[in-house]
Amino acid sequence: LVITFSLFYFFSKAITEKMLVRALKGGKNTKIVTLSGKKITKMPSSLDKLPGLKTLNLQNNRISKVCSEISTLTQLTVLNLGNNLLEEIPEEMKYLTSLKKLHLFGNKICKFASGACDGLQNLILLNLNNNELAWIPQEISRLKNLKYLSINHNQLASIPKELCFLKNLFELHLNYNQLICIPEEIKFLKELQKLLLVRNNIEVLPKGICRLKNLRILDIAGNIIQTFPSGFQNLKLREFYCEGNPLFLKEPVTAVQQDDVWSLQEITSRFIMNELSEKNPFVMQAITWHPLVKNIMSQRRKCAICGKYFLTIWLECVEFVPPSKKWKISRNLQLVPLQILICSYTCFNQRGPNLFGIAQV
Ligand SMILES: [Zn+2]
Repeated sequence: LVITFSLFYFFSKAITEKMLVRALKGGKNTKIVTLSGKKITKMPSSLDKLPGLKTLNLQNNRISKVCSEISTLTQLTVLNLGNNLLEEIPEEMKYLTSLKKLHLFGNKICKFASGACDGLQNLILLNLNNNELAWIPQEISRLKNLKYLSINHNQLASIPKELCFLKNLFELHLNYNQLICIPEEIKFLKELQKLLLVRNNIEVLPKGICRLKNLRILDIAGNIIQTFPSGFQNLKLREFYCEGNPLFLKEPVTAVQQDDVWSLQEITSRFIMNELSEKNPFVMQAITWHPLVKNIMSQRRKCAICGKYFLTIWLECVEFVPPSKKWKISRNLQLVPLQILICSYTCFNQRGPNLFGIAQV
C-alpha cells in the first residue's frame, strides 16, 4: 500500500490532519507521506506509528525543529525538508541509517549538530543549497557512500581536507560561496566527475586537480584565477568553463627585471635539497637529526628547466597551450595559461619559445 498526497490549491490544518490520519491507518504499510506546502510549523509526532515509511516529503513548510520521533524511521530512504526554517543539521539524522537522499536546501542551516553524520552511512545525496553554512566539520568524511554533494549559495570560506576522503564522490557543487582555495587533497576524489566552483574567490587551483582522472565537467567561472597548474592541459574534460577570470593573455612585451638576491636560507636550502636528491650520504644522515629542516625542505619546488630544487625564490612564468580539442570550452578561451616555476635567470634564458615571464605593466 502506498499513500501519496498531491499538492492542494488551498491549505488548512484540517486537511493536513486528515492526510495524516489516512497515513496512520496504513500503519507499517504506509511507505510515502507527502505534506509539502502545508504551512506546518511542527513535524507530526505520530511519525513513530509509521515504522515502514520510506519517503517523507515535508518541503515548503515552516519547520524549525526536527521531532525526536524521527529516530524511529529506520527504513526511511528519502527525507525532504527543503525550504523550511531549520538552523542546523539535526543530531537525530544519525538514527536514519537507511537514508539515501537528504534534501535540506533553502533553510537557515549554519552548522551540523555533533553526531549528525554518524549514522548516515548509506547516504548517497546531500543537498544543502541555499543555507548559511560558513564551515563544514571534519565529520563529513563519515558519509562514506556519498556520491552527490551540493552546497551552492552558502558562505563557505574553505572546505576541510576531510571532505576529500569521500572516495565515492561523483559530483561536488560549491557554486556561489566565498572559497579562497581548494585543498591539495582534492586529488583523493578519484571518482569525481563533476566539480562546480562558480563565483568564489579562488586564486589558484591546487596541483592535485590534475590527478582527477575521471573529471569530465569543471566550471570555475567567476573566480580570480590567472594561471592553471602545469599538467592541467592533460585532464580528460568534456566541458570546461572559465569565463570571468583574469586569465593571463599572450601579449608579449619587452621588460627588464633585476636579478633577485637570494637569501642565505635560500642558498643553503638549495644546496641541501640538491645534495639530497643526489643522495649525498653525509647530508642524508645529517638531515635525520634535523626534523625541522626536513619539514622546511618538504615545501620544495622543482625548476621546470633544469629540474633542480628551490625553496622560496623563483621566477613565475607562464606557458600557453591550446586547450584540448575534446574540451567543450568557454568561447573566450583560446590558450590555457599554465603556471611554470623556474629557479633562476640562468634557466629563464634557456626557456622555450612558448614560455614567458610575467611582466607588471
Ligand atoms: Zn633551473
